[in-house]
Parts: sequence; C-alpha cells; structure tokens
Amino acid sequence: MALRKIATIGHPVLRQHARELTREELESAPVQRLIDDMVETMRDAAGAGIAANQVHEPVRVCVIEIADNPRYPYKPNWPLTILVNPVVEATTAETFLNFEGCLSVPNLRGQVPRFAGVRVRAWDRSGKQLDFEVKGLTAGTFQHELDHLDGKLFVDRVVDTRTLCTWSDFERFHKEEFVERAKALVARFGS
Ligand code: ZN
Repeated sequence: MALRKIATIGHPVLRQHARELTREELESAPVQRLIDDMVETMRDAAGAGIAANQVHEPVRVCVIEIADNPRYPYKPNWPLTILVNPVVEATTAETFLNFEGCLSVPNLRGQVPRFAGVRVRAWDRSGKQLDFEVKGLTAGTFQHELDHLDGKLFVDRVVDTRTLCTWSDFERFHKEEFVERAKALVARFGS
C-alpha cells in the first residue's frame, strides 16, 4: 500500500466526470491496489471519505469511513465502505444544511444543502451488489463523495457564500451552533 497525492481545487481531474469500471477492471491488480491506497490515503489525511479522482484516477470508486474522526468529531462512526460505480437517489425531499469541508479544498468550510436520506446502490470491491439507505449527517457524507465522481466540489453547492470560512474560524465562530444542529440530526436519524 502507498499514500497517493491528493489533488486540490484547481486541478482539472477534480472536474472530470469519472468513468465506470467493468467487473474485469475491478478485479485487476491495479484497481485493487488503488482501493487499498485510497483507504490508506483517507486514513492518513483523517478524511471521512475520498473519491478516486481526488487521487488523480478518474474512475467511479469512493471509500467512506468514520472512526472517531478528529476533523468531524460530531459525525457518528460508520464502518469502512467501498463503493464502485455508485448511484445515490434521495429517499426524501427534506434537506438540511451540512457544514462541509474537503481534503481537496484545503482550509475552507461552508454550508451545503443535502438530502436527509439517500438510497445507495453500488458494487463492493469484490463486485458484490450493495443496496442500503443512509440518513442524516451520514447521508451528507455519501452525497459529498458521490459529487466528486461527477466532477463537483462542495463549494459548487454552497448557496450562501457568506457561510464560507477557514477551519480555525469555523472552530471559533460557527462550530457551537452547527454541533447543536448536528446533534439534533443524529438524535433523530441515529446517523
Ligand atoms: Zn471532498
């Protein structure tokens, strides 16, 4: 396994629509290695997830894991999930404002509307079909990662640009209010 370099905002690979993988490609050693490297890179950078185009591979693979994340301490834990050719679909019209950050957008956070529930369909790393629903804050994390595969960054979805802030100013001015809202979501949805 190896750490991969993370592309940052401005790099064209982040704006590419990532392509689907065939089952044959998924089984290949380079793609299996890519998945291992993405997990290692996400953990090293303390991300809640990472998409393949963030490590310069424009294919439809993303990984998500939340394990007492220091960048997002209010996020409930979520086991390591590897999504290949994922599709998400809203299960409710209800949205909430998520305060997001991104490994590819250093030192910036902002509020983004996200659906409060989504159905996720994908293959796992062995090509087995996954089909499950996620709600609340965790649903926001999945929508963020899926956006990457379509060449979108959270900043594209920030409705009120006055919510954009550095990480230290988030801590100083906005964290308390957002953590209260995050707690209410977790209490309601359990995630
Ligand atoms: Zn991101």
